Amino acid sequence: MNEFKELLPYLKLWSTYLDIGIVAFIIYKLMQLIKETRAEQLIKGIIILLVITKLSDVMQLHTMYWLLKNAMTVGAIAILIIFQPELRRALEHIGRGKFFAKNELQEKELETMLDEIILAVSELSKNRTGAIIAMEQDTGLNEYIETGVRIDGVISAGLLINIFEPNTPLHDGAVIIRKNRIAAAGCFLPLTESQNLSKQLGTRHRAALGLTEISDSLVVIVSEETGVISFAREGKLSRYLDTKSLKEILKNNYIKIETKKQPVWSKWGAKNE
Ligand code: ATP
Ligand code: MG
Repeated sequence: MNEFKELLPYLKLWSTYLDIGIVAFIIYKLMQLIKETRAEQLIKGIIILLVITKLSDVMQLHTMYWLLKNAMTVGAIAILIIFQPELRRALEHIGRGKFFAKNELQEKELETMLDEIILAVSELSKNRTGAIIAMEQDTGLNEYIETGVRIDGVISAGLLINIFEPNTPLHDGAVIIRKNRIAAAGCFLPLTESQNLSKQLGTRHRAALGLTEISDSLVVIVSEETGVISFAREGKLSRYLDTKSLKEILKNNYIKIETKKQPVWSKWGAKNE
């Protein structure tokens, strides 16, 4: 009995470590979940607001503190309503067991995958086949991937050309690329509300701009009417690109995510994705 009593402090110490470890792991996994959705920016905003609220309290700015504190209460309810679809998806995600899946970026394939995309774009442009290819970056595009047909295939020019082949089931809508894979095709992207767009530009270009207004994605568009290659980013459209300059642009912008160093602790998860 005495021996057990001696062990008790150690047991308590270990259960504290275990407790901290589990909570840290859950927070890390939740962050990973959020990282795949638009909620990420929102969370950052909330953290900044919390810091400002605390600061206004410490600095005794009473009115400011009162205002922020009350806005937070209403805000919390508003967030639950606004992000209901994301919350639902997050729960589904956990239910599907993806919570423990791993995301790993592969640098090596960047050059090959860009070559394949460029080759496809060049062919599509020559044949005047309309296409829209969205490349996911930090803002997750899960909500748009789910509007289309899941593919999860290796990027190849042949597959891309085939997807956009007119009168086939997947040609309508956008292809979404996640890392070095084609995540989905036939996806419906949000249209821009912008009024000052050329009358020549229809819904395809509007969808490309719309997505880049609400995310940091890169979007490549091939016009069906003219074969013109365009590129959209941050709500801005560059038109009349040749394949060489398009590759340059994609390399400069997309490489950032592909070569980004993964923190060591991200290697802890299971290797099943
Ligand atoms: P183009 O120069 O190729 O004619 P456009 O900008 O004039 O392009 P539309 O002619 O309206 O656009 O192109 C219609 C096609 O754009 C649709 O068939 C569909 O494939 C695609 N598209 C339209 N809206 C969306 C959307 N919200 N998300 C993804 N793709 C879309
Ligand atoms: Mg058109």
